[in-house]
Amino acid sequence: MNERDSEAAASALLAAGFEMASSESEADVLLFNTCSVRDQAERKAIGKIGLVKRGKRVRPDLVVGVLGCMAQSLGEELFEKIPHVDFVLGTDRLGDLVEVLNAAIARRVKVSRTDAAGDVEASRLSGHLPLDRRSSQVSAFVSLMRGCDRFCSYCIVPYVRGRECSRPVGEVLDEVSRLVCEGVKEIVFLGQNVAAYGKKESGGVSWLPELFERANDISGLRRIRFTSPHPADFDDALIEAVAVVPKVCDNVHLPLQSGSDRVLAAMNRNYSSAEYFSVVEKLKRLSGGLTFSTDVIVGFPGETDDDFRATRTLMEEVGFDNAFIFKYSPRRGTRAASFADSVPLESKEERNAVLLADLKRRAESANSSLVGERVETLVEGVSRRNASRWFGRSRTNKMVVFDPDPSILVGDVVSPVVERSTAATLFGAFPSEE
Ligand code: SAH
Ligand code: SF4
Repeated sequence: MNERDSEAAASALLAAGFEMASSESEADVLLFNTCSVRDQAERKAIGKIGLVKRGKRVRPDLVVGVLGCMAQSLGEELFEKIPHVDFVLGTDRLGDLVEVLNAAIARRVKVSRTDAAGDVEASRLSGHLPLDRRSSQVSAFVSLMRGCDRFCSYCIVPYVRGRECSRPVGEVLDEVSRLVCEGVKEIVFLGQNVAAYGKKESGGVSWLPELFERANDISGLRRIRFTSPHPADFDDALIEAVAVVPKVCDNVHLPLQSGSDRVLAAMNRNYSSAEYFSVVEKLKRLSGGLTFSTDVIVGFPGETDDDFRATRTLMEEVGFDNAFIFKYSPRRGTRAASFADSVPLESKEERNAVLLADLKRRAESANSSLVGERVETLVEGVSRRNASRWFGRSRTNKMVVFDPDPSILVGDVVSPVVERSTAATLFGAFPSEE
């Protein structure tokens, strides 16, 4: 989501006549789009912004701005923490970027804006960079909503991103059509809880299934992905839409957080492990060949060895072969910040390592079972790891690497045969009889 915000901000600045600098040392303005979901992300951002101090001493005209969640949560406090910051713009105020930046350049006064902008903000930043400046030529993020109303006890998002607010379906579809006209083949619909997209506005019915159907009708679009849905909002209509709408891909990212009912309740997640598993089972029943990925927090306050074992067991039963595992860190202002952070760091690290080892084993085994099979792959371009190879993604969101061929273009859908695999990658080839 931050990546998407950065792109929208860059596109607003380009439209206002600013130019993108080719390196940090050549830039007249440095903008930091920050995250504060985890302590580590926040410390990294503060460290990075701190490093600019030297540049600012040499070039006093350099303008330094801080955007995003950390800007929202710290506001003017950031001027005290890092005195060389010129302006701070909260998550709801990204639409004011050009105005605030121009004021900072002209008057050199410190500005902090973190107040709520109201419902319009969800619609304001739909700008995208020109295709050749985006990180992917093929896949684009489209925001469906901002904010979150769920208030999981460990999470800072509702405090820094405000209340849930969804964009109208028609406006989202216009943005998708525009992107497809520019050559985009895959859309990733984004939101803190995409399964609740439109529920508030409609009085309880999610617009996501309808959006899938209508986006599916846009010719030229090949694939639809979405992240992240909250399991308690993943209702039967959405389960069915994933199964029946052809362009919706075969991977569901379904944040689990914990497999222990006691911990889930303390997290205020509003589902039990059985309810979570029932969503997975229904999805598996209706859509063959789905893969599942997830987010898990280890070391939540009070998490015992038994709680951790329950997480590990559920992860095995679902068969996740991809997951983001986070070590719990208290976030200011959240409910869990008042609980004792009781699990020692060594246990968090150990639990993290155990889950990562499980994932690797499962991914190696799942991927090796694909050797000899054809895998439908959307071609992204030159591999970032090895410039002599190309890569793409399968419908199940696996990385597929293959040798380039003049007949294969970026954005094509091809079906290489998997020759070998690792936990992270499928290596494909095109047998000569084709
Ligand atoms: N809205 C998304 C997640 C947003 S934050 C959802 O509900 O799935 C991304 C992930 O960060 C969360 O899924 C959670 O696993 C992790 N996270 C959030 N707060 C955290 C904290 N205080 N400590 C550790 N991990 C955290
Ligand atoms: Fe945070 Fe929970 Fe909202 Fe996700 S659903 S953003 S974890 S409060």
